[in-house]
Amino acid sequence: MSRPVPKPGILDIAPYTPGKSGSEQGGRVFKLSANENALGPSPRAVEAYKAAAAHLEDYPEGSSRVLREAIGHKFGLDPERIICGAGSDELLNLLAYGYLGPGDEAIHTSHGFLVYPIATMGNGAANIVAPERNLIADVDAILGLVTPRTKLIWLANPNNPTGTYLPFDEVKRLHAGLRPDVLLVLDAAYSDFVSRNDYESGIELVATTENTVMTRTFSKIYGLAALRIGWMYGPAHIIDAVNRIRGPFNVSTPAMMAAVAALEDSEYYEMSRTHNERWRTWLTEEIERIGLTVTPSVTNFLLINFPKTKGKTADDADAFLTERGLILRALKNYHLPDALRLTIGTEEANRLVVAALADFMRN
Ligand SMILES: *Cc1c(COP(=O)(O)O)cnc(C)c1O
Repeated sequence: MSRPVPKPGILDIAPYTPGKSGSEQGGRVFKLSANENALGPSPRAVEAYKAAAAHLEDYPEGSSRVLREAIGHKFGLDPERIICGAGSDELLNLLAYGYLGPGDEAIHTSHGFLVYPIATMGNGAANIVAPERNLIADVDAILGLVTPRTKLIWLANPNNPTGTYLPFDEVKRLHAGLRPDVLLVLDAAYSDFVSRNDYESGIELVATTENTVMTRTFSKIYGLAALRIGWMYGPAHIIDAVNRIRGPFNVSTPAMMAAVAALEDSEYYEMSRTHNERWRTWLTEEIERIGLTVTPSVTNFLLINFPKTKGKTADDADAFLTERGLILRALKNYHLPDALRLTIGTEEANRLVVAALADFMRN
């Protein structure tokens, strides 16, 4: 019997499996599995969201103009070269939809974000995986895999789930090694957490080239993941192409207004950054003191590496922590079976994680 069949490539995709969001035990649960802001969003963003509730009968303004202008003002960018989306996920998918098709290849690194292969294969293109070096993107490995069919490079900088980053010189070297018709996508979802002077989110490269875009999100440092809101900065011709294929009302008014208010609350942003840095350092030191290795992170999460010893594996630790209501992210589908990803939490959650890990290693 015949039946509707999806386009080639779609059934080859491994479905995205999000982290656990709760424990079956009941009791208090700390969700440290999705890289959300432990402190929640700015109260001003919540107020703006509530105020938007007065006019839910109206369609949103279709171009997200107020938000593009607020972003332009904040970052010194031309609002005409910004596009907003329902999360940066939507923008990544629209890039694939606009630029990839059967016969094309797109490259990401071995522990790249899972949305990349989904977007690539969903559009019938081949997904090419470049090895990393010490869990860091390797520019030479990426360039070595470029063929005449290569259309797009996905690079999360910093990367999730490794927490590592490429210095800007390396990103520029990557760009310089690409043909001008290959699109370089710099996914800067975690750029707000980086404080290294050799890092740059990609704004300069986007401003000065015709084949680079940068995506950003309100889901991480701004704590607005539930609203699904992200943005992209790119050359005018790419923004124009993506605007033609996006939904005409892809960003909701409450999301837009909350994001504008969040951008204006610099004090809250700085507090989130400071909280993150302080606890990232503390957690890294304390967890290493327990005898586990932590991959050096510039983000709001840590990759904790476990031994293969029976009883002390990442799987064992996951079960032990879940029992205590501490939900971390297992990374088997990222090919990191010996690691767990820990999102930096509130002081209380962070202290509970360290105490639990100490008990786990002692037992
Ligand atoms: C969380 C994350 C995003 C952001 O996704 P949204 O759709 O904006 O919530 C993008 N890229 C990476 C690597 C991420 O981890």
